[in-house]
Amino acid sequence: MEQDVIIAGGGLNGPALALALAQAGFHVTLVDARPDGARAAEGFDGRAYALALASQRLLAALGVWPEVAREATAIEAIRTSDGVPQGASVPFFLSFDRGELDEGPMGFLLEDRYLHKALVAAIAAEPKIRRLSGVSVVAQEAGPEAISVTLSTGEGLSARLLVGCDGRGSGVAGRAGIRRQGWGYGQTALVNALQLDAPHSGVAHQVFLPGGPVAILPLSRDRVSIVWSEEERAAARIRDLPDSDYLDLLMEKIGHLTGPAQLTGDRFSYPLSLSLAESYIAPRVALAGDAAHGIHPIAGQGLNLGLRDVAALAEVLADARARGEDLAAGNVLERYQTWRRFDATSLALGMDVVNRLFSNHSPLARGLRGLGMRAVAALDAPRRSFIREAAGLSGELPRLLQGRRL
Ligand SMILES: Cc1cc2nc3c(=O)[nH]c(=O)nc-3n(C[C@H](O)[C@H](O)[C@H](O)COP(=O)(O)OP(=O)(O)OC[C@H]3O[C@@H](n4cnc5c(N)ncnc54)[C@H](O)[C@@H]3O)c2cc1C
Repeated sequence: MEQDVIIAGGGLNGPALALALAQAGFHVTLVDARPDGARAAEGFDGRAYALALASQRLLAALGVWPEVAREATAIEAIRTSDGVPQGASVPFFLSFDRGELDEGPMGFLLEDRYLHKALVAAIAAEPKIRRLSGVSVVAQEAGPEAISVTLSTGEGLSARLLVGCDGRGSGVAGRAGIRRQGWGYGQTALVNALQLDAPHSGVAHQVFLPGGPVAILPLSRDRVSIVWSEEERAAARIRDLPDSDYLDLLMEKIGHLTGPAQLTGDRFSYPLSLSLAESYIAPRVALAGDAAHGIHPIAGQGLNLGLRDVAALAEVLADARARGEDLAAGNVLERYQTWRRFDATSLALGMDVVNRLFSNHSPLARGLRGLGMRAVAALDAPRRSFIREAAGLSGELPRLLQGRRL
């Protein structure tokens, strides 16, 4: 059977898109290079996502949220502070509380292992999706009516549209001739979880230190996820420390915010870079998620941006079909690109500027960021727009991000 859509990449955005499209009536094949079960393994990935309220609504509309709600932690407050190298922190210069947003909490923390597992289970129950794991897309050729795809098993498939959800090194983009722009940050994110002695009360912290920002994100059962960005040589030294020395160093920086804590689970590290596709579309091809834009994790927005792509692309395709248009007609794909590209690029570059301004301790940078943050804190309009942006509620929202089905 010819598919409507083939999706390369079974990380998080690929499965979310497959579900959204199948629920809108499309036949989808989802191909993931990673073997089944690898991602669910304990110790696979220490990542936890700060899911904006709009992303949570999308997961609810897809029917996935009830399966993960028990493991998700609502963000009750966000506190930012400008740390100094010795570890003492100046008072919070920007704080937000749950009551400031009428719609509910700004977002939720959820670990990768729960989210991915719930998406895979929902896909298994969806007859319109064929899911292949441990299989790669190795070749593609766009024609006037369809795109032909060759898999690593030798099988050939064809569909109206191929979507690359295959991450920053997207082969789908490369084979379609889409070039990328970007640069390394010279920083590495050290990621681990801590078990706290005292409850975290749902407070998320962002501490700006000269080597890079440290995020403290509240998880279920009074654990927190730490995303500690450091200059890459320092990070390599810290990564190689035994657990007790690593914990001592971390506590010097954030112990005043967490209280006593123990390491729990494995430690991970991710080199940080920016990677933006020059176009999100090519003939019979669209890109979504990190394949379109890999950004700095400073404000935890990467997956949220990807889920915005998912919601917009699914809506554009469903509306095109209702109008009797070819799913991959140039004007249909252009609608998707117009909707998403400006938002994603401006957020990616905005995070880049924030990271540069905060990841150093020159007196000028300290003065500028203090001034900027005090202005946001004091003025009602920027403050409100900051909160709505963090909750993913600004801009023209696709239906799924409003919690409505397609
Ligand atoms: C330290 C850190 C912390 C983060 N914290 C947050 C956060 O708090 N909130 C947030 O919103 N985001 C966060 N992010 C960003 C988030 O992790 C990513 O944006 C998101 O995981 C990207 O998902 P994806 O599905 O687009 O790509 P990926 O997860 O990269 O998945 C790509 C998939 O494609 C598969 N693949 C590759 N090539 C092929 C091929 N040829 N054929 C078939 N399959 C293929 C791969 O096997 C993989 O499974 C963080 C990132 C980092 C590094």
